[in-house]
Amino acid sequence: MTDVMERLKAAGYEAVIGLEIHVELSTASKMFCDSAVTFGEPPNTHVCPVCLGLPGTLPVVNETAVEHTARIGLAVDCDIAGFTQFHRKNYFYPDMPKNYQISQFDLPICIDGDVLVELEDYERRVGITRVHMEEDTGKLIHIGKGGRIAQADYSLVDFNRAGTPLAEIVTEPDIRTPEEARLFAQKLRSIVLHLGVSDCNMEEGSMRVDGNCSIRKAGVTELGTKTEVKNMNSFRGLARALEYELGRHLDLIEEGERVVQETRHWDANKNLTTSLRSKEEAHDYRYFADPDLVPLELGTDWIDAIRRDLPELPDEREARLMQKFGIPAYDARFMTQSKAHGDYFEAVMASFGDGKTASNWMMGELAAALNAVSLDIENSPVEPQGLARMLTLVKDGTISGKMAKAVFEEMFKTGQSADKIVEAKGLKQISDPSAIAALIDEVMAANAPAVSEYREGKKQAFGFLVGQCMAASRGQANPGLVNKVLREKLDAS
Ligand SMILES: [Zn+2]
Repeated sequence: MTDVMERLKAAGYEAVIGLEIHVELSTASKMFCDSAVTFGEPPNTHVCPVCLGLPGTLPVVNETAVEHTARIGLAVDCDIAGFTQFHRKNYFYPDMPKNYQISQFDLPICIDGDVLVELEDYERRVGITRVHMEEDTGKLIHIGKGGRIAQADYSLVDFNRAGTPLAEIVTEPDIRTPEEARLFAQKLRSIVLHLGVSDCNMEEGSMRVDGNCSIRKAGVTELGTKTEVKNMNSFRGLARALEYELGRHLDLIEEGERVVQETRHWDANKNLTTSLRSKEEAHDYRYFADPDLVPLELGTDWIDAIRRDLPELPDEREARLMQKFGIPAYDARFMTQSKAHGDYFEAVMASFGDGKTASNWMMGELAAALNAVSLDIENSPVEPQGLARMLTLVKDGTISGKMAKAVFEEMFKTGQSADKIVEAKGLKQISDPSAIAALIDEVMAANAPAVSEYREGKKQAFGFLVGQCMAASRGQANPGLVNKVLREKLDAS
């Protein structure tokens, strides 16, 4: 348990957390026009009269975006509404040319689902209130100190992102710790990645997680005053921000002050949140049905067809990997944290038979090497076939487990194959029994006192002799074989 969670518990409080997650849907064009969905292009180059909100233009719903949102809803066990409508969310901030965002209000496309989060020694079922469709806003760049609109000399706006289709997933306040929040968000990301409907890149903002949190005395049913935290761009950041915020709530209450309902900004460098604005209530947005868009009536046939075509999802894949490759639940969960991890593992297993060994390498050396250079597994310099080949060389005794680490490091650095590296560096393990026997004879002759000690019952001399054999072979002797043959020879007389 973390410090803050321990403090809360000691003071008799519990945390109440809900998340709002936006994912940008991978569609060719925007939600209501045919401008392309892009990232990192020159500002205002992917806009048109519709997404610029020019008078007289009419939005047209992107069918693929509706399908993608329904896929997410079905994958988190939601009901798909037969009748769903778009509303205008009105607000005053210059990141949308229309001064409103098209979103959904009381008739969202998906309602009432849940996601099971597995922790080390318990499970948490997190309710999904709704999954709805909306359009993304443009991006503002504030010039001047502070990086906020209030202190800026002037602000620049890029409407390339304005109108990009988004699915917003809203959870019930069922989450009780920052760690549960982190694991929930990771699992949701894995689900969306398996569906292939978003790339969920938190750093580029195609997945954004906002956290609502409050604290209350344990056993009380009504909710305390909540704050919303924004601007977390990693899962770790999400947990740290919630951690900070819950601690702040407890500090305030213990000092006899009140928590103010507001939206707060997470500063990952300073490791704290600052007040952004007082939290709006729904009525502040003056929602009303968008008169330019007719409600959608989604037929049972349409919904059933999407349900039938859902791909394998992380929970099913986890069960299949355990069953098919004999790996434990922990490993299977690691392999299903993203679609790419599962695909990598299955590609290794296509030419290597030992699931647990492959998973150990992926969770150990490979994960550490990728992490050290901030690469995703999709971009690993060691491809699955290459790793499978290297593991085969260990299995057939060509190289030892210890050499394998050096070979892997070299593969990762140079992209060369294991065979090439073993050949070039003369790393081949000595597994020829007669060569090992000759080596042992030499070592025994040169270490007669240790040999006598062993034979007189000082069994610890054995380890010393093994070490001498390994050193004499410059680490290339097959250690299993050295152990076996050395023991036979020592026990023989
Ligand atoms: Zn457009």
